[in-house]
Amino acid sequence: MRKSFLPFHKPSIEKEEIKEVVDSLKSGWLTTGPKVKRFEEEFKKFIGAKYALAVNSGTAALHLALAAIGLKEGDEVIVPTMTFTATAEVVTYFKAKPIFVDCEPDTLLIDTNEIEKKITRRTKAIIPVHYGGQACDIDKILEIAKKHKLKVIWDAAHAFPATYKGKLVGQFPDITCFSFYATKTITTGEGGMAVTNNKKYADRIKILSLHGISKDAWKRYSKEGSWRYEVITPGFKYNLTDTATALGLSQLKKCKSFWQKRKKIAGIYDKAFRKLKEIESLNQRGYGVSARHLYVIKLNLEKLAINRNRFIEELKKRNIGASVHYIPLHLHSYWKKKYHLKTKNYPIANEVFKRIISLPIFPDMSKKDINDVISAIKEIILKYRKENGKKII
Ligand SMILES: *Cc1c(COP(=O)(O)O)cnc(C)c1O
Repeated sequence: MRKSFLPFHKPSIEKEEIKEVVDSLKSGWLTTGPKVKRFEEEFKKFIGAKYALAVNSGTAALHLALAAIGLKEGDEVIVPTMTFTATAEVVTYFKAKPIFVDCEPDTLLIDTNEIEKKITRRTKAIIPVHYGGQACDIDKILEIAKKHKLKVIWDAAHAFPATYKGKLVGQFPDITCFSFYATKTITTGEGGMAVTNNKKYADRIKILSLHGISKDAWKRYSKEGSWRYEVITPGFKYNLTDTATALGLSQLKKCKSFWQKRKKIAGIYDKAFRKLKEIESLNQRGYGVSARHLYVIKLNLEKLAINRNRFIEELKKRNIGASVHYIPLHLHSYWKKKYHLKTKNYPIANEVFKRIISLPIFPDMSKKDINDVISAIKEIILKYRKENGKKII
């Protein structure tokens, strides 16, 4: 058994990041300044989109995206139940109503067949989540949106970078929101980015992200700009700082190698777990390449003498960290009570929730780390499998 605890996630912070942060501190630009500008430029160039607006969280990006499309009180927005609470929470900022949709059993992506059944005349938008880093069936969702005149805000908190039919997630209408939270594929500690090809949305997000002011601080105080600014609407204090962005600039440079490493780890897990009847890995659709933000296994509980919680305990005993993504939103007391949600309406999420475990996957994992995870899983299965078949190791 390994001696030290392997965390579920660890960000890759190296010399470059530290140097860039120190540079920000020495420059005197602590809040939004030249580094944020550069980060937006480089990010949109990487994605291949027209506009990228940096904000201080993925949640802020989602909030401003909904503001940009003009979400109003009483509107309905379709969201998956298998997601983090932020996806639905932002809808309530407008006194609008999130409408929860079940997931597919093999990918945990929003079930596109269920979306259309939930559309009413109040429906204004859909917020699909590229769960675990795998893109949703974007064409299919855009087709539904077009048919019913809905806007689509992609929650791409897990999906930087990921592709769909050869194009990077972020190139598709209407607005895509990324997160740079500490556990995401690239990080600024806390941060996010809204990406769009629509100038009207980009202008609106930009203005709302800093008090509804029509010029940002950089233009106001640097010698290139003037002292004049104008408040044209009440906005929010959602601007990203240069100090945080310093991390993001270095991380962005390395995102392809991070991605490569994540794909490699996922490939090793896939291969190691394929032969084990007691667990299943999630399916990857053939239409794109996942960011591999999460590596989720599903336990075949009927073949095991222990449940999911106990399985996680057993991993912990063997010094392996793990997590669960997610407790479906309809099972949380707030969402359940507020919208009178019936558990039975989400059969797939209910069933799959009891079985899922997210395993460690991050670029700095060593070969040994990966093998330790695999060995621990095999050991637990050998100890607790129900049938006494032949040895699986
Ligand atoms: C992380 C996350 C968010 C929120 O991003 P923050 O940057 O933490 O605000 C939203 N949706 C999903 C699916 C996430 O995983």
